[in-house]
Amino acid sequence: MCLFCKIINGEIPSYKIYEDEYTLAFLDISQETKGHTLVLPKKHIKNVFELDDETAIHLTNAILKTISTLKTKLNFSNINILNNSGELAGQTVHHLHIHLIPQYEDDHFSFNHPQKEPNFEELEKLHKILLDK
Ligand code: 5GP
Ligand code: ZN
Repeated sequence: MCLFCKIINGEIPSYKIYEDEYTLAFLDISQETKGHTLVLPKKHIKNVFELDDETAIHLTNAILKTISTLKTKLNFSNINILNNSGELAGQTVHHLHIHLIPQYEDDHFSFNHPQKEPNFEELEKLHKILLDK
């Protein structure tokens, strides 16, 4: 059984923030910023490529409820909502989870990605591929 399934069934303790029939949210053990929380479906889904519409709706609902609790208690007005799907994307626990990472003036999380110059030729080509033209 995966680590997060063990947290869901109570074998491993966690600091729960929100729970319903379909989802659970708990504090990330390693706090990128104060209140860094993971929201996940109780159903074992590996990553976003396995996510079905119904679970996505439950997950979205849980994300919004959890953000609301965090925001009320921790008093921030900026947040990142992130998902790593697959190892190259940085996924280390292979049970779908969404990171909620509040941002504060003095407690800041950054991807550190410099903005690239736009290449309109490449954008044009890519758009054609994506629209099957
Ligand atoms: P990923 O890298 O897969 O997107 O994120 C996995 C996250 O799970 C990491 O941020 C890591 O700190 C967190 N994590 C790993 N093990 C545990 C644990 O036992 N308990 C909790 N609460 N979080 C964990
Ligand atoms: Zn699992």
